[in-house]
Amino acid sequence: MTATIINGKEVASNLRNEIKDEVITLSVTPGLAVILVGDNPASRSYVKGKEKASIEVGIYSELKELPSDISEKELLDMVEHYNSHPDIHGILVQLPLPEHISEKKVIEHISPEKDVDGFHPVNIGRMMTGKDAFLPCTPFGILQMLKYKNISTEGKHAVIVGRSNIVGKPVGQLLLNENATVTYCHSKTPDLASFTTQADILIAAAGRAEFIDETHVKKGAVVIDVGMNRKENGKLCGDVAYDNVKEKASYITPVPGGVGPMTITMLLYNTLQSAKKHLERV
Ligand code: NDP
Repeated sequence: MTATIINGKEVASNLRNEIKDEVITLSVTPGLAVILVGDNPASRSYVKGKEKASIEVGIYSELKELPSDISEKELLDMVEHYNSHPDIHGILVQLPLPEHISEKKVIEHISPEKDVDGFHPVNIGRMMTGKDAFLPCTPFGILQMLKYKNISTEGKHAVIVGRSNIVGKPVGQLLLNENATVTYCHSKTPDLASFTTQADILIAAAGRAEFIDETHVKKGAVVIDVGMNRKENGKLCGDVAYDNVKEKASYITPVPGGVGPMTITMLLYNTLQSAKKHLERV
């Protein structure tokens, strides 16, 4: 058996077209403020990607670049500025931040109504209790990929490898909300394969190059690879040993071209939703 590939570019492109079509019907232009602190090349490249994608769907994107020695207070003031800015519906502070700035404090300073990354505790709480919330973009994107392929989650055993606040924990919560039975694994989990081989849906989000191989996967499992790692030769790869695992799985996401394009797309989606909510309030 060779797995069906879930093409993230295709899912993302369809969704971006829908977003674009909806943006032009609105009486306001959705606005996204992206704050970049310092000159980390990876962060800069992510931010540029977000800016380009925003423009493509008709979202106004404002990039605020700040030096790495900016004080925490100055950054909080910048967040405050966008919290009350009438043309901005979404605020994203690119992580990681320099060590002298508390990421927690900055995230908690973003108005939950403009928290299009879905990292604010209010949105996390709303997600956990199944209420309307901005959902974190990568987990939300994974859900959309499953839906696109009509992969049912109800009653399925989902095993998540990784428990970070931005990927592992929320993706498990979203799958639980969709009636999956969820198991979390992490770096202290002994005998990882004894858990992962029970998965109907296996989500690999550990940031370890190609460490999930065919011995970790049940025949016919759906395998979602969130990892973005660099091999020694500089090539991008996921957490899953793709060539071997694809012979055992029923569905698989490639890296690149899998989960990655979905993350930005869900940011655009959340910004659009935020603009619509804003219009409902005025
Ligand atoms: P973190 O480093 O924050 O979390 C990694 C998690 O994996 C931790 O919970 C850790 O456990 C667990 N882990 C590490 N090693 C092992 C192991 N050997 N066995 C089992 N569990 C392990 O990473 P993120 O969640 O931020 O990201 C995960 C990956 O996804 C990275 O490669 C990242 O680049 C990628 N990513 C991709 C995105 C995309 O858009 N495609 C978006 C965001 C991230 P413990 O908690 O015990 O330390």
